[in-house]
Amino acid sequence: MSGEAVATVVRAVQQYMHYMQQLGVTELPLQVSTDASAWSPRSQVALQQLEDSVRNCTRCALHRGRTQVVFGTGDPSADLVFVGEAPGEAEDRQGEPFVGPSGQLLTRIIEAMGLRREQVYILNIVKCRPPKNRDPHPDELAACRPILQAQLECLQPRVVCTLGKFASQALLQSDESISRLRGRFHALGEIPVMPTYHPAYLLRNPHEKRLVWQDMQAIQKVLNLR
Ligand code: SF4
Repeated sequence: MSGEAVATVVRAVQQYMHYMQQLGVTELPLQVSTDASAWSPRSQVALQQLEDSVRNCTRCALHRGRTQVVFGTGDPSADLVFVGEAPGEAEDRQGEPFVGPSGQLLTRIIEAMGLRREQVYILNIVKCRPPKNRDPHPDELAACRPILQAQLECLQPRVVCTLGKFASQALLQSDESISRLRGRFHALGEIPVMPTYHPAYLLRNPHEKRLVWQDMQAIQKVLNLR
């Protein structure tokens, strides 16, 4: 691993440690080493440590109704990260985001881009299932945002794609409609963010797939996949 890559990982771990201190955790199950050979590729170690640290999170009321924290899945070195809203019933049960029919459609979209699902990283804005699949409340979003930020710091993606109105508005902190947000890149720090329609919306409105495909083609261009 290059010195620059090690520095990236160290930075991510430092931010994670800062986050844990904010949570009031004083004893961290983590040993930071600057020895390059001690690191898994890129930020995998930091991401795993972060996942372990939030497994029993009780920062917001959503912890009461969850089966488990749905942290995210995929390649920690992925260039492309998909961001959804919150776990549904099946995701809560299986511990993985985007399972079921909308997850299958997302997998087909990823494959149409020339990638496999295992080559991207998929996560949600909020990690615990809201009751009756309601939208997360502002205080729940605020409580979970440091986890999302720490994840993105670890992942360092080249592009983020937000799926649906809620995730797009929450990540970009915008109140514009998804039809106005989609179709162009927005900036999250230095990361380009492409909002697009949620796969569940596409299942109900298949004629909108054309627009989503346009958004995916724009992402492909940035990632040199075309
Ligand atoms: Fe913690 Fe986020 Fe779950 Fe709330 S939704 S309990 S902040 S992991």
